[in-house]
Amino acid sequence: MVYDYDVVIVGGGLVGGSLALALRDAPLRVAVVEAASITERLSLAAGDRALALARGTVQILDGLGVWPAVRPHAMPIRHIHVSDRGHFGKTRLHAADKGVDSLGQVVLARVLEEAIDRALETLPWTRFCPARVVGLQAGRDGICINLRQDRDDLPLTARLVVAADGGSSTVRRLLGIEQGVQDYGQTALVTAVRTDRDTAYTAYERFTAAGPLALLPLERHRSAVVWTLPHGEAAERLHQTEAEFIAQLQEVFGYWLGRLELAAPRQGFPLKLIRAEKMVDRRVVLIGNALHQLHPVAGQGFNLGLRDAALLAERLFTQAAFGDDIGDPLFLARYAQTRQRDLARVIRFTDGLVRVFSNAAPPLVLARNLALFALDRLPPAKRLLSRYAMGYGAGL
Ligand SMILES: Cc1cc2nc3c(=O)[nH]c(=O)nc-3n(C[C@H](O)[C@H](O)[C@H](O)COP(=O)(O)OP(=O)(O)OC[C@H]3O[C@@H](n4cnc5c(N)ncnc54)[C@H](O)[C@@H]3O)c2cc1C
Repeated sequence: MVYDYDVVIVGGGLVGGSLALALRDAPLRVAVVEAASITERLSLAAGDRALALARGTVQILDGLGVWPAVRPHAMPIRHIHVSDRGHFGKTRLHAADKGVDSLGQVVLARVLEEAIDRALETLPWTRFCPARVVGLQAGRDGICINLRQDRDDLPLTARLVVAADGGSSTVRRLLGIEQGVQDYGQTALVTAVRTDRDTAYTAYERFTAAGPLALLPLERHRSAVVWTLPHGEAAERLHQTEAEFIAQLQEVFGYWLGRLELAAPRQGFPLKLIRAEKMVDRRVVLIGNALHQLHPVAGQGFNLGLRDAALLAERLFTQAAFGDDIGDPLFLARYAQTRQRDLARVIRFTDGLVRVFSNAAPPLVLARNLALFALDRLPPAKRLLSRYAMGYGAGL
């Protein structure tokens, strides 16, 4: 038997799951293929990483019906404090200056993953889980997908396949889409600390000669740490004793939050900027990490992936409502063209931050301190930075 759908979403994680939710009322038959059960995904240590969600992201999640389950576990960011270690430049952004109650929210990835999965259970969409895509053949009128579930092979057909299967996307590999990879030579060391002082809804971004260090509020006295370091230095810090690690973290971060105590295991994520060379190809659209993997310095990866899903859902809705082919190459090309601007801007912004703020060359150190100093005093520039922080930078 062959199962036939309009849209097959490969990957039911943060971005693919969100797309399935966004298509809730679409006149489409949707299937979601996910390789790992929710129990497996929640048990992965990677779920302990904190996600800074832009204000625009929270609004989209609210529209998807996910936010009420996440809100009790999320911490609002009311202030962002940006500084350059050992130099004078500093800037602060405040939600109140923008007339809003928060600039964004911080939540653990596992909380969001679980909320999305629960919401998916209420939809009529077919879910193949755990199941993996192992083959794809795109034709003029449709696309055939081969799934492996347990030891069985299942053939599916669809008008459109959406690849939301993460950084090592199988769909991308099966289509032979190349990727541009830029290795930053850095690892994000991720952990959490208990703080002596109240985190007071403040996210800290501290630029150091080795790389940026972010402390994001998780609770009144607990912050998530994302410390970007050259590979060698990160490996060393990952294996230091707790006392040595905390002493160094404290030295680099300072005492903005009083004394720090380690509150979670340390994990390392090697950092690269990876971009697939095509966003659409033969009845397939790539979204989320399958399309772009960013440096977490500006906390933009999921925010950007969610906007991929939101725009795609909106376009699919209209195309299906008019009874038009949702895998039509011209339709997909128009989607890709619209999406390109936001992607290019956010990637440029994030990549620029990494380059400028991970560089110890004296002219750059001076320039970035002058920039932070000026930013703190120039309302229009500060407004622009706030728009990026809130996830409205690209006008979606
Ligand atoms: C240290 C760190 C900090 C970060 N901080 C932030 C932040 O503050 N803010 C932010 O916005 N982003 C942040 N990010 C980025 C964010 O985590 C990612 O952008 C986001 O997880 C991407 O979601 P995704 O659904 O595209 O991919 P994934 O989360 O990787 O999901 C892919 C899904 O596809 C499934 N899958 C894989 N292969 C197959 C297959 N063959 N068949 C079927 N299913 C398959 C997987 O099981 C998985 O569930 C951070 C990332 C890191 C590493």
